[in-house]
Amino acid sequence: MAGQTNTNVKRHLIDPAPRFRDQRNPVPAVFLDRDGVINEEVHYLADVADLKLIARAGDAIHRLNAAGIPVIVVTNQSGVARGYLDEDQLLVIHKALSTLLGDHNASVQGIYYSPYHPDGVGDYARQSDCRKPGAGMLHAAAQDFAISLRESVLVGDRINDIRAGHTAGTRTIMVKTGHGARETTLPEAAEADFIADDLSAAVDHILSEMF
Ligand SMILES: [Mg+2]
Repeated sequence: MAGQTNTNVKRHLIDPAPRFRDQRNPVPAVFLDRDGVINEEVHYLADVADLKLIARAGDAIHRLNAAGIPVIVVTNQSGVARGYLDEDQLLVIHKALSTLLGDHNASVQGIYYSPYHPDGVGDYARQSDCRKPGAGMLHAAAQDFAISLRESVLVGDRINDIRAGHTAGTRTIMVKTGHGARETTLPEAAEADFIADDLSAAVDHILSEMF
């Protein structure tokens, strides 16, 4: 989207294949929050030993892959700004996540992360449009790949995920896993277009009702 480029957007493990990159033919994508959606929420995941897939999440992503839908992870990682882990350790976690998904024949086209937070240290201490509820990561992915945001769906466990999706123009699904156990009970959860028990149920809804 012209004028929306955010050079601060960070990326890990971007799929180099030319699929999904035909700018003449933008396609719908599924954007996934990471913690509490794909893997179990632990407070500031910093140790790869604490990385554990949520039940059926790997198979859910595999079903999106099989349907030919690009899958993009968009994750706030303020633990970097707060000094709980560095970006090299975050990459180790993302490689391990990719391996765990691979065990289910599942893959994602890229992981976009925001290491920033206003209360962070050094260069990471900043407001950033690529920190959700900002839409910077979604706009960057839509440019890197050829994604039609208004045809896309974002799945998240927090209100701020839903707001990022809507700011970018996507439809949204809130899941009850992770912080969703509490946040889906809040009045703001009504902002989501649909509420699902977990990622697997969200993908059921996406494949039957949204695409
Ligand atoms: Mg989350």
